[in-house]
Amino acid sequence: MNASDVRQSFWTFFESKQHQIVPSAPMVIKNDPTLMFTNAGMNQFKAIFLGNSKPTALRVANSQKCLRVSGKHNDLEEVGRDTYHHTMFEMLGNWSFGDYFKKEAIDWAWEYLTEVLKIDKDRLYASVFEGDKDMELPKDMEAFNLWNKYLPEERIINGNRKDNFWEMGDAGPCGPCSEIHIDLRPNEERSRKPGGDLVNADHPEVIEIWNLVFIQYNRKANGDLESLPAKHVDTGMGFERLCRVLQHKQSNYDTDLFAPIINAIANITGINYGKSEDGDIAMRVIADHIRTIAFSITDGQLPSNNKAGYVIRRILRRAVRYGYTFLGQRQPFMHKLLPALINTMGDAYPELINQQELIGKVIMEEEVSFLRTLATGISMLEKIMVQTKKGNYKVVDGKVAFELYDTYGFPLDLTELILKENNLVVNRKEFEAEMEAQKNRARNATAIETEDWITLVHDDVEEFIGYDYLESDVTITKYRKITAKNKTLYQLVFNITPFYAESGGQVGDTGYIDNGTEKVEIIDTKKENNLIVHITKKLPTNIKGEFKAFVNRDKRQSTANNHTATHLLHQALRQVLGSHVEQKGSLVHPDHLRFDFAHFQKMSREEIEEVEQYVNKRIRANYSIEEMRDIPVAKAHDMGALMLFGEKYGDLVRAIKFGDSIELCGGTHVKHTGEIGFFKILSEASISSGIRRIEAVTGQKAEALIQGQHRLLIALSEMFKSSGNLEKNIAALIKDNSQLSKELDTMKQNYINIEKRNLMDSAVEINGTSVITAKVNSILADKLKDLAFQLKNEMGNFVAVLGAVNNRKPQLSVITSDELAGSGKINAVELIRHCAKEIQGGGGGQPFFATAGGKNADGLDAAIEKAKAFVTEKLS
Ligand code: ATP
Ligand code: MG
Repeated sequence: MNASDVRQSFWTFFESKQHQIVPSAPMVIKNDPTLMFTNAGMNQFKAIFLGNSKPTALRVANSQKCLRVSGKHNDLEEVGRDTYHHTMFEMLGNWSFGDYFKKEAIDWAWEYLTEVLKIDKDRLYASVFEGDKDMELPKDMEAFNLWNKYLPEERIINGNRKDNFWEMGDAGPCGPCSEIHIDLRPNEERSRKPGGDLVNADHPEVIEIWNLVFIQYNRKANGDLESLPAKHVDTGMGFERLCRVLQHKQSNYDTDLFAPIINAIANITGINYGKSEDGDIAMRVIADHIRTIAFSITDGQLPSNNKAGYVIRRILRRAVRYGYTFLGQRQPFMHKLLPALINTMGDAYPELINQQELIGKVIMEEEVSFLRTLATGISMLEKIMVQTKKGNYKVVDGKVAFELYDTYGFPLDLTELILKENNLVVNRKEFEAEMEAQKNRARNATAIETEDWITLVHDDVEEFIGYDYLESDVTITKYRKITAKNKTLYQLVFNITPFYAESGGQVGDTGYIDNGTEKVEIIDTKKENNLIVHITKKLPTNIKGEFKAFVNRDKRQSTANNHTATHLLHQALRQVLGSHVEQKGSLVHPDHLRFDFAHFQKMSREEIEEVEQYVNKRIRANYSIEEMRDIPVAKAHDMGALMLFGEKYGDLVRAIKFGDSIELCGGTHVKHTGEIGFFKILSEASISSGIRRIEAVTGQKAEALIQGQHRLLIALSEMFKSSGNLEKNIAALIKDNSQLSKELDTMKQNYINIEKRNLMDSAVEINGTSVITAKVNSILADKLKDLAFQLKNEMGNFVAVLGAVNNRKPQLSVITSDELAGSGKINAVELIRHCAKEIQGGGGGQPFFATAGGKNADGLDAAIEKAKAFVTEKLS
């Protein structure tokens, strides 16, 4: 069975059990402060499990792109070393939202594996939760008995809290789980030693394939468990592992999902898979990571230097580094694997094909820049090795290794590898201490303490009315306290709210609530698991009463101006630059807007102006908003709406149309484009390979910008006596200036000649060497070197110490004849270091010529005196 057939058979099976098949949610999560990447199939249903959203179907199934490289699930270090953990993998899952429970979940899992896929029953094991004293929970006998219909007792394994009790987080829905494991060892080996002891023991051939989670409790912030009224099922099966089982392979990397990529790596590097342990690990790492990187780019997450983008950048660098260290790749190579990846995954994920050019360019540019960093790091390391050896040490400072890791992306093992070749080691303890300290810093910076929700009104689903109203009567349905960085804030949820929660790039509303006696400010509005959360610094005293809620109108209007302008800008870019322009990110703020989009070159002045004209023309056309709420994704698509990443299953979407611009959007907009007033681009620049960023302003901000610029122009014009054209005046000024500089330079050259003569005349002779020590006119301060070398041309055996003050900064030059330098009697560097102390400076150079700069101009005479004494002593 090839991989596509496996995926399809899962869907077909669960369809036959009345499940609705839904698409994978994006792997990159944009609107959840607690999670950067989807790490399990259930993430997209979190709000349903929490009771904040109602499901559109009670049974669903899908294949979900998951990434486990950060936070609670981090498999990164396993990847490549073993053959069944990936960074990105697909999780096949089926869900029941308060519908069926353990019996159906277990029966169907068994039916699918053994009857549909015909997996050998004798190879399967199930684990059940053994109970936990601390949690006061008994063994999950219900699950045990259900499994016991299919499996003998000895193949039902007890699992502890760590393996068999699933929790969404420190608080929230949780429950026991049952995992299905498979023993893939050869028959003969299996009969010699049964697999029971090998389950959950990291054996490469006895692996977990499916986890069935039975969500039946809610954990409160104080740790107590309460039973859930509606019980849910959440299952997840590793697709790559299942393919390996069905294709009878030794490793996930031998399946049709990875083998073509491994082959491509072998072709590029000329190294065969299976030749050496290190080489094989590197090839698996690379085959794994190219998928992760390509998929995250299609999901809109490019490598960058913070947050999710940084995680992706680190993964890319990890692959490049493995290629560099173990496969000898000194040139970019990852981007060449794209065709092989598209061959294996392009059918199921056409976005890979659509965005192939962008993905390739981004990866290539990242590779080039990281290879450069690697080279810098290696040369740094070489210097460190020389120093360490010089001091006759064998151990390199752990701090140095940490700096290499932190700033140059050099992982410890690479540093160690290079050191080992030179018989050196790193002080690991120091390295780990630095690492720990950094982790603590990061942890403290982000630590948030969240208390339980306190519910005032039960079973109320919050309604958002902010598209139509900026004020309303509200009651608080629940609230909680959060503490972050020693600051206490409160989150309030209302029955109904006019406040827009930050999302889709648009900032959250601010405003206040008022009950007649007390006014409480809302400092921000955010979305969390589908709840609109209003953030305040204090709780209203009488929290149970009625309030009037007011959104800050001015801020909302300026934000709306910028949001609608963003749509017009998007359309303009597609008109002026071409339809390859795709939105990659945006920020809609009351003061300005920012729009990131895929485009491969800098926009010309003309293109920028054309875009501005296009937008302003549509502002003047004063189009009215046409808003379509709650239409199915498919319908919006047919209308030609521009889609963003991240439309989720079952989503009813909102389409916003102004003239010919039509986009899916949940944000707030103007009623008529004329309200925007005026649109002006502030800047256009590259933010990463293939991605450009435009920053722009509208309305009053744009007006203020133009007025400011105009004021500046007037002020500049007034600086010129002659009236007339400013541009011509400035050009003339620049020309005059360069003419004057040239003349001044000629004069200085003449002056050098005069000064040189004076200096030569001032020379005193000590034991056959002419000695010149002098402070020269500050006009020549920038010509000290010239002067010194001209002296050298004319003098015989000599030494000169010259000082000058340039812009209040003292400078010294020492020059000697080659003969004197050769004799070793006077070393210019030694001399300059000796006397530069007087000017609070340091210096350097060569034995016959050295210079120094300092801070203390008053010490210049003393420095020259000191030099004179030094020279006299050395020559006498
Ligand atoms: P393991 O113990 O093997 O790491 P897990 O307990 O972390 O698995 P779950 O969180 O229960 O796994 O995920 C459900 C299923 O997803 C697992 O049964 C497994 O088949 C698959 N899976 C989990 N992590 C990975 C991974 N990193 N790469 C590939 N498949 C995975
Ligand atoms: Mg795991």
